[in-house]
Amino acid sequence: MPPPRTRGTALRHRLAELRGPDVPAKALDARALAALAANPGCRRRAILDGAGVDKAALAGALGAPSAFGQSQFAFMRGNAFEARVKADGGAELLRLAHERLDPRAEAPVDARVPELSAGGPEGRAARTALALREAVEAGGWTLLDHPMLALDVAGSPAFLEPDAVVVHPDGGWTVVEIKSFPLLDGSADPAKVGAAARQAAVYVLALEEVAARMEPAPPVRHQVLLVCPKDFSNLPTASAVDVRKQRAVTRRQLTRLTRIQDIADALPQGTCFSPGLPAEQLTVAVEAVPATYAPECLSACELAFHCRERSRARGAVTSLGRSVRAELGGLTTVEDVLAAARGAAGDPDDPAVAALRRAARLRAEALGRQHAGAAGGRRPDTSGGRHPDAVGAGGRHPGAPQRRAESAEAARCR
Ligand code: SF4
Repeated sequence: MPPPRTRGTALRHRLAELRGPDVPAKALDARALAALAANPGCRRRAILDGAGVDKAALAGALGAPSAFGQSQFAFMRGNAFEARVKADGGAELLRLAHERLDPRAEAPVDARVPELSAGGPEGRAARTALALREAVEAGGWTLLDHPMLALDVAGSPAFLEPDAVVVHPDGGWTVVEIKSFPLLDGSADPAKVGAAARQAAVYVLALEEVAARMEPAPPVRHQVLLVCPKDFSNLPTASAVDVRKQRAVTRRQLTRLTRIQDIADALPQGTCFSPGLPAEQLTVAVEAVPATYAPECLSACELAFHCRERSRARGAVTSLGRSVRAELGGLTTVEDVLAAARGAAGDPDDPAVAALRRAARLRAEALGRQHAGAAGGRRPDTSGGRHPDAVGAGGRHPGAPQRRAESAEAARCR
């Protein structure tokens, strides 16, 4: 049997083909990686992110633009706040790190801020690793402003850029996240803090890969420094956030990601996700990769509206949520579920099928009782001898409201 046509093609070359000629790769950031790890079974997202496809542009070209992202105003406000936090050689940032994370260490006076520029993400990642090594050897405080870290994701490197990394006098490393949402009286919106913690956990994992290549390996702290504006001012304040749980979850999810090479090998030659292609062609390309849509995608992936529409059109039960999906075992479509409930299909020994049939029986009994109650509770006949179900003088059917309610209920179940 001849080998698959993609076999032997370098992965990088193959991913560039999938992205489209002359389309620059969109770097995977920690936010995307945290979201990717939240849905590790989705091959579609894995290959699109692995190939550096701009999913927001792709969703727009498919006619299902994404509804999330940061406004230009919020983006500019965030940048201005970060510049303020890092002004004067990062003096305020280092003061906060000393105060919140390492108060027993010497004060951060004359901290080093090494130059990290280099050609390309690989060069910057190598320069960052060297700067970290030098900082540990030199002792004292060092601030790495926008270092570049590499993390292996499904067999392919993802380059990540945290806001900052602080090296402590004891050689330990701390990830710094700078956010523009406020800390009010020392606490912030838990959803935003949770998202920041998941993002920081990805950086912690990437730093651990750098540390593992050093002898002895410096400790990567599992408390990150979250810097935010204080109350409604523009003054920075900080909080130490423990990301051990998020780090463990993300590491477990990332190891479950299907290897990108395997997904790429399974795609037909000529598949391309370039947003410049016609929508029909892009739809065929996107549908060539299996997806596992769940309602959680709506807040995590730019392709959510496209995938939701397809998932609903197929009657996939995953569109009802992962917990419903888990309850239904091998029944993957709404059609299968209804057929099993009616007794028209399904193995009666399957616990999901048995539970559905019991639920259908209980529903039929309840509706039967409702009918009987409605019939027994009718008011005395004032129809002048007409059949009780006959349409009244005003054209109104006495049984109509009940039947309407029933048919709405039936339609929901169908
Ligand atoms: S929206 Fe689609 S591509 Fe994105 S994670 Fe969900 S199923 Fe996968």
